[in-house]
Amino acid sequence: MFSATYSEFVEAVKAVVPKKDIITDPLQTAVYGTDASFYHLTPKVVLNVTDEHQVRFILREANKRELPVTFRAAGTSLSGQAITDSILVRLGGQGWRDYRVFDGAGKIRLQPGIIGSHANLILAEFNKKIGPDPASIDCALIGGILANNASGMCCGIDENSYKTLDSLRLILADGAVVDTGDDKSKAEFRRSHGELLEKLSEIRNKIMANDELSDRIRYKFKIKNTTGYSLNAFVDFEDPFEIMSHIMIGSEGTLGFISDAVYHTVTDHPCKASALMLFNDMHTACSAIPLLRETGEVAAAELIDRAGLASVADKPGMPEGLADLGAGVTALLVETRAETAATLQKQVAKISEALSGLESVEPIAFTDDPVQYGMYWKLRKGLFPAVGAVRETGTTVIIEDVAFATEHLADAAIDLQTLFKKYDYSEALIFGHALEGNLHFVFTQDFADQKEVLRYSKFMDDVVELVVDKYDGSLKAEHGTGRNMAPFVEKEWGEAAYVIMKEVKNLFDPKNLLNPGVIINSASDAHIQNLKALPAAHEIADKCIECGFCEPVCPSKDLTFTPRQRVAGRREIERRLKKGGKVKELAKDYCYPGLDTCAADGLCATRCPVGIDTGKMVKALREEAHGKLAHKIAGKVADKFDLVAKVIPPVLNTVDKVHKVAGTKVMDTVCGGVRKASLDNIPLWNKEMPTGPDKIVPETVNKTNPLKVVYFPSCAARSMSGPAREDKERTDLPEKTKSLLKKAGYEIIYPEELDDLCCGQAFESKGFLELADQKSRQLSDMLLKASDFGKLPVLFDTSPCFYRMKSMADPRLEIYEPIEFVLKFLMERLSFTKQEAKVALHPTCSTRKLGLEGKLKELAEACATEVVMPEHIYCCGFAGDRGFNFPELNKAALEGLEDHVCECDAGYSTSKTCEIGLSLHGKIPYRSILYLVDDASEPVTE
Ligand SMILES: Cc1cc2nc3c(=O)[nH]c(=O)nc-3n(C[C@H](O)[C@H](O)[C@H](O)COP(=O)(O)OP(=O)(O)OC[C@H]3O[C@@H](n4cnc5c(N)ncnc54)[C@H](O)[C@@H]3O)c2cc1C
Ligand code: SF4
Ligand code: SF4
Repeated sequence: MFSATYSEFVEAVKAVVPKKDIITDPLQTAVYGTDASFYHLTPKVVLNVTDEHQVRFILREANKRELPVTFRAAGTSLSGQAITDSILVRLGGQGWRDYRVFDGAGKIRLQPGIIGSHANLILAEFNKKIGPDPASIDCALIGGILANNASGMCCGIDENSYKTLDSLRLILADGAVVDTGDDKSKAEFRRSHGELLEKLSEIRNKIMANDELSDRIRYKFKIKNTTGYSLNAFVDFEDPFEIMSHIMIGSEGTLGFISDAVYHTVTDHPCKASALMLFNDMHTACSAIPLLRETGEVAAAELIDRAGLASVADKPGMPEGLADLGAGVTALLVETRAETAATLQKQVAKISEALSGLESVEPIAFTDDPVQYGMYWKLRKGLFPAVGAVRETGTTVIIEDVAFATEHLADAAIDLQTLFKKYDYSEALIFGHALEGNLHFVFTQDFADQKEVLRYSKFMDDVVELVVDKYDGSLKAEHGTGRNMAPFVEKEWGEAAYVIMKEVKNLFDPKNLLNPGVIINSASDAHIQNLKALPAAHEIADKCIECGFCEPVCPSKDLTFTPRQRVAGRREIERRLKKGGKVKELAKDYCYPGLDTCAADGLCATRCPVGIDTGKMVKALREEAHGKLAHKIAGKVADKFDLVAKVIPPVLNTVDKVHKVAGTKVMDTVCGGVRKASLDNIPLWNKEMPTGPDKIVPETVNKTNPLKVVYFPSCAARSMSGPAREDKERTDLPEKTKSLLKKAGYEIIYPEELDDLCCGQAFESKGFLELADQKSRQLSDMLLKASDFGKLPVLFDTSPCFYRMKSMADPRLEIYEPIEFVLKFLMERLSFTKQEAKVALHPTCSTRKLGLEGKLKELAEACATEVVMPEHIYCCGFAGDRGFNFPELNKAALEGLEDHVCECDAGYSTSKTCEIGLSLHGKIPYRSILYLVDDASEPVTE
């Protein structure tokens, strides 16, 4: 319930946070109640913040009222540290994304909202990268990477955030700001917070005076460790500012807010070689680890147990023979990296020599072929999803994260396997970063049933005993303590260290308002409280593990819901239903963020570890939502498609004439007003609105010419590909395509009944799935006929139509979208002269799903002197005609596009409707890539 104190708080923060960034409604707060862990807490209020001023204000107002605050970056945490039942402060929208590379790329300043892999993209041109490399790096933000001290396969304990940190800019619980890399800021802080600095020094002195404690701290950080606070800050540094910045690393938002960080960068070697080494048993595999480490040449060594190998054995592209290996076989996937190929070979020889005394299942063989080593790493990365994808609906997948001194690794792994048997986790598997003694084990668990919760609880008690009492290892090596290990911090560290940790917490956050319950938690059962139930919500999405990996590419992420939230929203409705609650309002509230503003492009599936296409779920839900009348109308449209399509060009031409007379400003105002008056039911006009193209008139085909192609202009190309009023290019798409094909010497065959043909995409995205299939079948039949049963290639001028037909067309058909068609059939028949132009490219979602971004670039580079493909712009959000009805989706998806393309002469893509929205928001004309190809090419003269 929203108490008066929270209401007052919300009123107060309205002074600095825009209304749209203050979320309090039941559905939206519930979907923000999830991170990638198996815990769930619904925040009272979610605040999307974009600058320091807001954070300081929020912290002060929360402080006044003693309200807890939790920070959220990408929400991919696995231990329950990014959730709260109080105030959730999110790094929102386009904020927190500034960066600066300096000191000859030796350092990089990063704001906390930058995705980890984007930082690496920025550094790639310098052959550098940031040290930390969690497997979630394509999604996790710098703020979360720092606050969790996240690490991965290569960074070990030498290149994590703690070790590669230069300085931090922090906001403390009282709203004070300090930049530990700025002398002026430090001097001011010393004046205002001298006591805090003194206390830090006192704690250090206390630790250093206690040999047992300081030795214990040193010992604990010889292997990976994220249990509790980074107490090594006190033994590694004397300067209180250094202690403060380093204790923040891994503090999980419980000590302060990180608003900026400077990292020392690390070298990213270009030459790589990997070997999948198979040993007969765990002990032999683990005995290779010290030998590998001694070589000093190993970048990564991933251990995979027998169950892990079995879980991916039947997946496409896996090495042969995995299924037939002996019972104890254990793999080490080893990678070495070097500056040059010659050095790489020397390193490979050195590593092979070091292992020559060990017996392996097959001779050890490294490969520097990216395809082959790519396959090995695919195997490794497939382990976690392999468990997630086969689990029963309603269960969750848990990934644990422990570390042992490497001399104990083999025994510890075997002990863990014994525990899996004892507690009947038959699907459990082990993999991990062997050089650091870090093992992950993955298993599935039902939390809906108290008996099952008890099984988990007992299992974890045994795991704790094994890791702590038997091997003195780390209960959390990389993923952070969170709520999951908070009850066991004292057990792992001992009383003296735990007292220091509590002292640190009290020093920075005396009122316990920053992420309470995380890291320091007195409840012995905190790890089995607030468990997330995962009721069946929709069969397409039931395997969702709520990891959030899909979020960065979703066009609606800054407008309404992300794919994860679309699933979480459905689950919330089901959860309430199960409890006998009323869900009518909630289900109604779900429609706009959950259904209406999903572009249904399926780009989320390209990032999902368990292969979920949330767009597919949305289309199915749209279908369920249609009443009989809607089906009847859609059926009529499908039947009389030619008539409907015929109406569009004259309407567009009439609107264009009005535009000519009235001017853009008047049109914007009037059309905006009409839309408003219709309660957003009338589509919104925009100045990039196309006109109707000329009618396609097939020409007589020269039968003696062997070069023939079937050309299928999409319904969008046939009805709305004429020039927008202000576009200098006046040729419509079918005409342009025809002229290009003719120039290359092709005879063009159009399928019969062209006006009536449609790939079905328009019906599918609206949730008329059966009608969509009907239209696809009709098109396939007509293309089959036109191509003489597959003898002639078929060109689609629109990628999304091609993409749909790829799975729907008769297998005899040889179909192409524009990029591959030009590369395969036209390049050699045309002579190219690069145009003196800077051009922007937009790969459509279909282009991305087909993996053709590189080929689009290759083609554009043959046609223009300068080519840019703006990073971080994924789906344009126009989504067929959705861009007219929900223009805000298109606007949100293309936020920032103009900055990327403002110096370009034109933009190119492969879908007319996408190009309308791109032109509008990029503020340069976007056209089909076929226009660029036509401009840059001439017939080859013999
Ligand atoms: C499939 C999968 C694989 C993973 N693999 C790895 C792995 O290999 N290695 C690894 O270490 N982790 C891994 N993780 C866990 C997680 O992705 C990482 O810890 C990641 O760094 C978290 O970043 P985030 O942006 O999602 O942060 P969030 O989860 O949003 O937040 C993390 C913590 O930081 C705090 N926080 C966020 N922003 C700030 C800020 N600006 N200032 C202060 N505190 C802040 C939050 O309160 C929270 O406690 C994995 C997760 C998943 C789902
Ligand atoms: S849809 Fe896939 S990527 Fe997205 S949260 Fe669910 S499991 Fe993760
Ligand atoms: S289909 Fe597109 S818009 Fe819908 S959830 Fe997936 S990425 Fe987001």
